[in-house]
Amino acid sequence: MFVTMASISSSCRFVSRLGVKWRFFPLPLLGWKTLATSVRLESQCSFATEKNIFLMGPPGAGKTTVGRIVAQRLGRPLIDVDDDILERQWNMPVAEKLSAVGPEHFLEEEAKALSGFSAHGCVVSLTGSNPLCSGTMQHLRRTGTVLYLDVDEEDILLRLSRMKVSRIVGQEPGVSMRDVLRYRRQFYNQCFDIRVLCASGDTEEEVAEKALLALHRHRDSESETFVSTRSDKVAQEDVARDEKHFSDVVVEGLAPDSGLYVPKEGFPKLQPGQWLRMVHMSYPQRAAIILENCIHPVDVPATELQRMVSKAYGENFACAVVAPVRHLAHNQYVQELFHGPTASFKDLALQLVPRLFAYCLPQMCNYLVLVATSGDTGSAVLDGFASLPDGDRQRIGVLVFFPENGVSEIQKLQMTSFKEGNTRTVGVTANFDFCQKAIKQMFSDPSLAGCLAVEYGTVLSTANSINWARLLPQVVYHASAYLDLVRDGVIGFGDPIDVCIPTGNFGNMMSAIYVKQMGIPIRKFICASNHNCAVADFIATGHYELQDRVLTPSISPAIDILKSSNLERFIYHASGGNGRLVKDVFSSLDARGSFVLPQDVFHKIQADVLAGWCSEEECLAAIRDVHTRTGYILDPHTAVAKVVADHLQDRTCPVVIASTAHHDKFAPAILRALQLAESPEQLLPLEQLDRLRSCGSQPVMHEALQRCLSNSKTQPHAVCQADFSLLAEQVETMAQDLFLKV
Ligand SMILES: *Cc1c(COP(=O)(O)O)cnc(C)c1O
Repeated sequence: MFVTMASISSSCRFVSRLGVKWRFFPLPLLGWKTLATSVRLESQCSFATEKNIFLMGPPGAGKTTVGRIVAQRLGRPLIDVDDDILERQWNMPVAEKLSAVGPEHFLEEEAKALSGFSAHGCVVSLTGSNPLCSGTMQHLRRTGTVLYLDVDEEDILLRLSRMKVSRIVGQEPGVSMRDVLRYRRQFYNQCFDIRVLCASGDTEEEVAEKALLALHRHRDSESETFVSTRSDKVAQEDVARDEKHFSDVVVEGLAPDSGLYVPKEGFPKLQPGQWLRMVHMSYPQRAAIILENCIHPVDVPATELQRMVSKAYGENFACAVVAPVRHLAHNQYVQELFHGPTASFKDLALQLVPRLFAYCLPQMCNYLVLVATSGDTGSAVLDGFASLPDGDRQRIGVLVFFPENGVSEIQKLQMTSFKEGNTRTVGVTANFDFCQKAIKQMFSDPSLAGCLAVEYGTVLSTANSINWARLLPQVVYHASAYLDLVRDGVIGFGDPIDVCIPTGNFGNMMSAIYVKQMGIPIRKFICASNHNCAVADFIATGHYELQDRVLTPSISPAIDILKSSNLERFIYHASGGNGRLVKDVFSSLDARGSFVLPQDVFHKIQADVLAGWCSEEECLAAIRDVHTRTGYILDPHTAVAKVVADHLQDRTCPVVIASTAHHDKFAPAILRALQLAESPEQLLPLEQLDRLRSCGSQPVMHEALQRCLSNSKTQPHAVCQADFSLLAEQVETMAQDLFLKV
């Protein structure tokens, strides 16, 4: 039998979307274009076989009224659990029953009354206490979809006081209404399919409208697809054939035509009132809501996503607020993105991505995740995948390639000290660009793919920022920085900010650009390079020129990159989705080492993006200067961004500088900048950190990093010459070692 990778992965996709995870079968998959047509189609369906729509939420959320509007708009019967089920069965008002049986038995009685529930095709307004009984909710959920009317707590309290409700079910004497509502919220959060995030002050009509839109999205699982940046729009039929869903793009990583996946219809836009709801939320809560809107529930159900998010941004972060924003100077703020386990911003994505990845993977294949790293991605990927459960680790291997002489001693230790059986780290005597290119080439090498598929049942994927799943979690912290500034009164919602980002592969920047599409008003995107400034020059001139450039190692090695892979997404969007142009310019880049953007596209880029670069001396001086003035130590990448922000930002609005690493990780550069050691490279990593600690500055030392270095010595690791076939051999050997079952 001849099996190709294409046939394996397409059959996997079928299983993952239709077999395993399709829990709520939608209405007939006709072209749901507008709500009007959905109403028409729906009313022609037979209610007897239809799913119910449950409206859930706290007392005062508007379940009854919203239910009435939704039922009317969809032409469906309405059941109000209070009036139509409980009161009828009990033959008395609910309040009377409550005082008759007492609060301790009320929930039991309620559960009993609902145990025979067997309606179909109805809109059902639940009681506020139904979700407290898990048996009832399980029974109900089998017959339909649960919409959670997520209304602001203050609004609820206000409405309840207007309605003169002084106590609700389960409220013990002496416990405040606010506390009961909070207690209940955890139950609501566990059993919904669709969240309807209401803005403060929304009328019931507005909530109903949001509910209808959310229902529509839930059913229309084919609407949120991804296309390759190189797909040719003119050949429309091909585009339709090439469309992929979230699960597919996470697993595949790179499109078959070597383009990168992007969402076909752009990003969902949240309303200002919805953003304002998030101002006082925690990072995981913000993340859950933002990501729910970007990942279709058929791919990852919202409650599942919420579970993943709470694990990804929990104890593993040294700082409970995950990505805090601090004032630096004048109108400059830094967002500290280094509190994760491996001390760089890569953790923000990579603590979550492996969970998404494992969830989306079809059960029947093994996966080998290939990663090229300029230093920080490697350890973040290794840590992220190591935290998966055993079962997942048995079918997912991770192979990291890093430039043997292009990463710091500390970074090398972090990577090579990983001893998980399913991971391997290989040094390559070449730079990052070579490693990245080799990986891309492996994806398009049919003989390698065929061999892996046939011999080891193994499919390749990647966790580099060419993978869509890497960019998505990063959208969250850009939004979070803005919301923090609103919360702290620095700006009002709607006021502009600028962002300044030390840029390598343009992934962090791309996420910031996407968050603007979601409604966060970022004015300028400032792209900061070190002396390897091909991207900065490109943004300034529209001319991408690699011919005469040689990568020169710097003290900010994570951005020692000349070929920024995410520029491809950027150009695709700036050109209005012109896949042909993208294909042309990147072929030209491969063939001739350069390309020039058409004028119109260039002007579009210039309207939003500024770029500059910073020399090694300026970088060291900035670290020294900021430390002298404030006692705060910038890592060299953050310092690059600070220098460029000083040059290019006009101070008419706040600027958030992305602090992408903890300075401990680049200790030698800091020791040099602060004149704490003559030749810091000659000190052992732990000695370097000790020296740094002696100046007792902010931010405090990175404990997880310290622990990692204390427990490990330089490990022997494979080193490979800069030759594609040698790297491919490593891949095959690893697949063999991990997945060849005898
Ligand atoms: C990876 C990295 C960057 C570059 O981020 P991109 O998304 O590739 O532009 C910047 N700083 C640090 C510390 C990094 O690890």
